[in-house]
Amino acid sequence: MMIHSTLSGNKEPFQPIHKNRVNLFVCGPTVYDDSHIGHARTYIAFDVVARYLKYRGFSVFYLQNLTDVDDKIIQRASELGAEPASLARKFEKRYLEDMHNLGVTNVNFYARATEHIPEIISQIERLMEKGFAYETQTGVYFDESRFEDFGKLSHQTAEDLERHRIEPDPTKRNPGDFSLWKKREDKEEVTWDSPWGRGRPGWHIEDTAITETYFGPQYDIHGGAMDLIFPHHEAEIAQMEAASGRKPLVRCWMHTGFLNVKGEKMSKSLGNFVTIRDMLQRYDADSFRFFVLSAHYRSPIDFSEGALEQSRRSLERIRQLVKIIEEQLECSETPETASEALQSEVDIRLAEAKAKFLEFMDNDFNTPYALGAIFELVRDVNRRMNEKTISRKALGDAKNLLGEWEWILGISFSSKGPEPAQKPEDLIGSLIELLIEIRQKLRDKKDWQLADDIRNRMKELNIVLEDAKAGGGKYTIK
Ligand SMILES: [Zn+2]
Repeated sequence: MMIHSTLSGNKEPFQPIHKNRVNLFVCGPTVYDDSHIGHARTYIAFDVVARYLKYRGFSVFYLQNLTDVDDKIIQRASELGAEPASLARKFEKRYLEDMHNLGVTNVNFYARATEHIPEIISQIERLMEKGFAYETQTGVYFDESRFEDFGKLSHQTAEDLERHRIEPDPTKRNPGDFSLWKKREDKEEVTWDSPWGRGRPGWHIEDTAITETYFGPQYDIHGGAMDLIFPHHEAEIAQMEAASGRKPLVRCWMHTGFLNVKGEKMSKSLGNFVTIRDMLQRYDADSFRFFVLSAHYRSPIDFSEGALEQSRRSLERIRQLVKIIEEQLECSETPETASEALQSEVDIRLAEAKAKFLEFMDNDFNTPYALGAIFELVRDVNRRMNEKTISRKALGDAKNLLGEWEWILGISFSSKGPEPAQKPEDLIGSLIELLIEIRQKLRDKKDWQLADDIRNRMKELNIVLEDAKAGGGKYTIK
């Protein structure tokens, strides 16, 4: 299996540190707002990476951090007059809901930065002891000039790095030194005690403190979006390799390309973003996953309604086939077996399709080609069904193969649509709607007592009903 690593700039044979175990870490969100579909692209890509590694027999531990203390959170909270901690919890919950709704289900553990403060402090202390970090009046900084490998991930020379030095702080030794601990006295701020006084951690140190806690100083795969390569991931390498004296921090650095809108990267700052929630109002998660996987994870992908619509239609073609296969399997006229020659032709065809799919996925998770292999099979099976040369056994085999693929891609090929049983929040929503309907019938019959009882009991469950003049009503969950 070959995976492209940003560090070498090449595809390399993938070889985890422990024979069969893969420790995978992907940068999680800063929970100050809803995530947009640019973020979703990265998380879907790594969900498929985790699925495929599992399919290939690896035992995968997938860890993600949650940045729940940060300038952005504190700023947003003060704008909204909210507590930073409760704002962070609220958006963390919404992020996890978004991931669930997108079928991103393979993260084993989400680690909050605020629950790893002792580990963060310990790592900074070691960096201080080894002379890689220093304290000033404003905080503790990493001395970039002491780490000679700085720039190796982003392939930048000292000269290139010079151009990035845009963070002047008069107390720092070098303009490019990054913050490990921010000294903060302000009561408005979220702070902890440390050997350097009250304050809070810098952004980069939380990742290495978290990965060191669960994986140790070295692990297999670190993923994230391309724009995190510098300075974020460069800083992670500097921190952990300097603190442990061991390199490399990570065997394989994987980075996803941008999701663009009309050629421009989708981002919060450009204002050209669509939240995951808004997108899921209009499209199903499977179509979106299909859209994401129709491009290679390292390539940019252009988002448009048209592109999503096209993905939906392509997926529909696979679903149509699955539906027809199911009907044919039910149909008594479908022959049990075909002639030996035809049977072995189909067997060979299925084995080829499976091998192709694996070959493409083994080659740096080439999902667009893997989807191509699926469509080749779809065409072939359709043709054989039209010619009535396919047996019940062959149809069953084709269906099983499609089943393996849908698991790897995390996309349902079943024409029954997304699995409603797996979405409890949808079920709760439907149940509340049902209660509202029953209440309306009671009110129509002027049974005010029972209608009020229902409303009061629901209020006890933190579900607030608001009656509408025209009948029915709205609800909010507190
Ligand atoms: Zn990170």
